[in-house]
Formats: sequence, C-alpha cells, structure tokens
Amino acid sequence: KTIESTYDFAKYKTPTGNKLSCKGWVQEAALRMLLNNLDPEVAERPEDLIVYGGRGKAARNIESLDLIIKALQNLEEDETLLIQSGKPVGILPTHKDAPRVLISNSQLVPKWATWEHFSELEQKGLMMYGQMTAGSWIYIGSQGIVQGTYETFSAIARKHFNNTLKNTLSITAGLGGMGGAQPLAVTMNDGVCLVAEVEEWRIQKRIETRYLDIYFNDIDEAIDRAIEAKINGEALSIGVKCNIIHLLQRCIERNITPDILTDQTSAHDPIIGYFPHEISQEQANILRETNPEQYLEMANRSMRLHVELMLELQQKGAITFDYGNNLRGRAYEQGLKNAFDFPGFVPAYIRPLFCEGKGPFRWAALSGDPEDIKVTDELILSLFPENESLKRWMTMAQERIAFQGLPARICWLGQGEREKAGLAFNELVRTGKVKAPIVIGRDHLDTGSVASPNRETEAMLDGSDAVADWPVLNALINTAGGASWVSLHHGGGVGMGYSIHAGMVIVADGTEDAAKRLKRVLHNDPAMGVIRHADAGYDIAKDVARQHRIKRVLNSE
Ligand code: NAD
Repeated sequence: KTIESTYDFAKYKTPTGNKLSCKGWVQEAALRMLLNNLDPEVAERPEDLIVYGGRGKAARNIESLDLIIKALQNLEEDETLLIQSGKPVGILPTHKDAPRVLISNSQLVPKWATWEHFSELEQKGLMMYGQMTAGSWIYIGSQGIVQGTYETFSAIARKHFNNTLKNTLSITAGLGGMGGAQPLAVTMNDGVCLVAEVEEWRIQKRIETRYLDIYFNDIDEAIDRAIEAKINGEALSIGVKCNIIHLLQRCIERNITPDILTDQTSAHDPIIGYFPHEISQEQANILRETNPEQYLEMANRSMRLHVELMLELQQKGAITFDYGNNLRGRAYEQGLKNAFDFPGFVPAYIRPLFCEGKGPFRWAALSGDPEDIKVTDELILSLFPENESLKRWMTMAQERIAFQGLPARICWLGQGEREKAGLAFNELVRTGKVKAPIVIGRDHLDTGSVASPNRETEAMLDGSDAVADWPVLNALINTAGGASWVSLHHGGGVGMGYSIHAGMVIVADGTEDAAKRLKRVLHNDPAMGVIRHADAGYDIAKDVARQHRIKRVLNSE
C-alpha cells in the first residue's frame, strides 16, 4: 500500500475555530500546526508527508501521523509526548509547565552522519528527515522565508545599492517552498528577479500565490524582459522554466551580468533536490529511481559547474552569495578548491541582526480567521512605532502576502521585543480580541539555535563554527522554561553531517500560566543567541547583553 493511496485530505484537514478536540490548547495547537504543515496550500507534497526543503517531513509515515493525532487528542495537561524522527514513541508524566511534546529528528552519531547511512535507515522505516520547521510543526508556507529573504535583500540594498534594488537585476534558481519567496522579496525591494525553475508546477504554484509575477518557457525571452524591466526601473519577478545552468550559460554568452546572483535549489540533498543539467526533467525523474548512483554523479557534476559559472559571473561584477543550501560545499566536495570564494548570506548580511537577538519570530491564528492576524498586525505596529523597516515589511506583507493554511505572520524581532509581543498577544486572547489562542514560534535558522558551519555559523569571529553545544543548550533551556513543544534536529538546510539545530513553539492561550511561560521562553530563547555571539567576541552582542541585563558569567563585568 503506497502512502499516496492512503492520504485522505478531508481527514487531515486542520481544525479551526475555538472548539477543542484535545484536552487543552497546547495539545490542540500542536495538532493544528502539525496538520497545517500538511495542508495542501502549505506543504509541497502532502501526499508524501513532505512539507518543504527536499524531503523535509512532518511525520514518518501515515501510521505515525495517525498515532500522533490520536496521542495529541488524548494527551493530558501533565504528560509529554515523545517523537523520535517523526514517530510517536511514548507518553511520559511531566507537569503542566513542561512542553507537551518533545521532538528529536534525524539525529545520527557524527561518524554515521551521512546521507548514505541516513537513507538506508529511512528505507528501513527507522528515520525521517525533519528539515527545520517541517518535523517541528511550525512551517507557515513561503511567507516564513519571505521575511528572512526580504531582510537579506534589504541588507544588500543598504550595503551596495543606496537602500533600494530599483534598476537592479537579481538572478537565482529554485521556486520550492523556500526558494519561492525570492521573487517576492526582490520586488518588495523594488528590483527585478529572474528565477530558473525546472518544474512547471512549482512555477504555477508561485504565480497562484502571487509570489511570482510572470513566466516564460524561453530563456532568451525571459532575459530580454528582465533587462527591459531593469532599465525601466520596474519591480518585476520573472520565472523561466529551465535548468539554472542553461540560464547562467546563456547570460555569459550574451555578456549579461546580473547585479546580484544566488541560488535556492535543494543542493543540500542532491538526489532529491537538484536536477542535473545534462538530462531533461522527465529523464531525471526516471534516473533517480532506476540508477540513483548515476543520478548523484550527474548532479554532482552539475553543481560543480553551477558554482564555476557563479564564480565567473562574480568575477564580472555580480554580487554573489550562497543562500544556505550548501551548494558551495557540494562543489568543494567535487574538487572545486575555490568554491568558497563567494560568501554565505549569514556572515555577509544577517549576523549583525543575530547579535541583537533578532530572528524570525512568527505566529499563527489557531482560529483560522484572517481577522485575528489583522488584529495582531495592528498590535505589532503599535508596539514598535520607531521601527521603520518593520513598518515597511508589515504594510507590504498585508498587501502582498496571500495566506497559506492557517493565517500567520512573521517579522524579525530582537531581544526584548519578542517577549513584549508574546505577552501582548496573550492579552489579546485573554480579553477576547482574537477568537482563539495564538501560536508563536520561529525557524531553526535563528540567532541562538543552530550550529551550521556552511550557513548560520559560517566564519564566526572565534572560529567556533562547528561547535554544536549551543543548539543543544537552546533546546534544553526552552524545555526548562516551558515552551509548548521543543525540537532538536540534525541536517536541516544544509544536509546530513552539516548542522544541528533546535526549535521551539509556545502558545498564548490567554492564561496567567501562559503569560509566565511566555515571559521566560521569549526572553531566554533570543538571549541564547546574544550570549552565543557575545561569547564568540561580537561587540554588538556584548552591548545587547548589557542593555537587557542578560547575565553572562564573566570575570570582568
Ligand atoms: P524545495 O526542494 O522545495 O525546492 C527546490 C527547487 O529547486 C525545486 O522546485 C526544484 O525543481 C528546483 N531545482 C532543483 N535543481 C534545479 C536546477 N538545477 N535548476 C533549476 N531549478 C532546480 O526546497 P526549498 O524549500 O525551496 O529550499 C531550497 C534550499 O534552500 C534548500 O537547500 C534549503 O535547505 C535551503 N534553505 C535556505 C534557507 C535560507 O534562509 N536561505 C532557509 C531554508 C532552507
């Protein structure tokens, strides 16, 4: 029996409204967010339980999904459900302030932490790839990444282009769950974005959700329209159905150099997420099944060439950066010694924000009512009136972002701000200004929750890139503080062996108890990031720690 034949969209529809199907709002929130991850509007391939990012799943298989649902429905207020790589394995007694769910996904002992070994275990039904927010049930569709991508392109605009991307051309690839945010983030910064994507259905999906404006099947037509838009100063995003290698080769042939160049194919998982350029999409889909070794060989060759082409365009003046998919790492593994000649996006643009405890704060309205998000949007704008870029983002997000699944919002908030917002949301619930509790979470890509030497912790000031104690401490402190569910994952974003990261979600249900938990967790979680960066020697982080009276254990202060 295949998974496809047993997936029942009606059965797994996310409950909405203010009636409980579990024994408390925290369990209910976990249930709704799990099912929301698999909502066909949200997930890339719900029938395979795949949420985003190559093979990032919400549950190991249909049987596990059913068992998790049942366990959450019966879970008491003093019990904790344990999830081992997408499978529920036990319910143990805890207490009301403990997390209701603890999740560990894709952990392997370091010497065995390879895709080969992982895939063997996965085929035996023993493991699941949790990516970041897929297996930790707090993915909210492409919006989640739009804000991060918007922040990155805004930082590029500030650093290189006088605060705006008007009259600039960005070229990239991949219109998947994460990559689909790129065109919108560029046009929100007033630029032109040309994106190569192999699979037509992905392009269609981004057009439908208004993340992408137009698309072409012909590479030259797409390039011509992009150049025209750049000259005219239009904000326009253009998809082109082709392999990125063919697009970059054609740009070089025509002597066209983009202003900005990056990539968001799923290079972290070459077999599932990267299409080789020497064969068609149809041939690739067959080869992947019939001869995965040969597929891998071809994908590796393509990824090396891909990076070579990016380096060539960088030489010609394109501002080039790796967008967190480990593409450089793959090319380096294939012997391309200078693969790391262009930087990753974190050291280039995001780290100063991490030093302030800033990261992707997100929330969803469990009621399912978009009006509730409107209320929270207004509240956020009133809480932080001095924050201009937040205001710009929120205004554009309201206008341009179509909700997928449960209505949700994201904005980057820092130390102090997250706690303030969380407590204010709890008040909205308590006073009935929203129709049901609000669930608050974040990506694992955050200030204090991840060790990933080719991405979030690339080029740390003290060389501590690969030290993974920090995400482990992050998961432990969030558990101790009483987050609603806490997760610790391996391999998200960049693939097996390359990262360890933690997630947390906390529910604002309007109660006093929730307020106490929110205050602790939303203080401690970003504080881990401030401490981590201060410990690595970043001055901004040291200042922020002092301003917010975060106790660091030091001789001198
Ligand atoms: P996804 O698997 O949903 O989508 C990848 C897309 O790339 C697919 O649509 C695929 O058809 C396309 N593609 C693959 N090879 C191609 C090629 N050669 N030419 C053109 N298109 C090609 O993945 P996603 O969720 O969009 O994530 C993309 C990557 O970004 C992943 O590696 C992910 O880990 C990484 N990521 C980055 C960030 C970040 O903040 N920068 C965050 C999360 C994930």
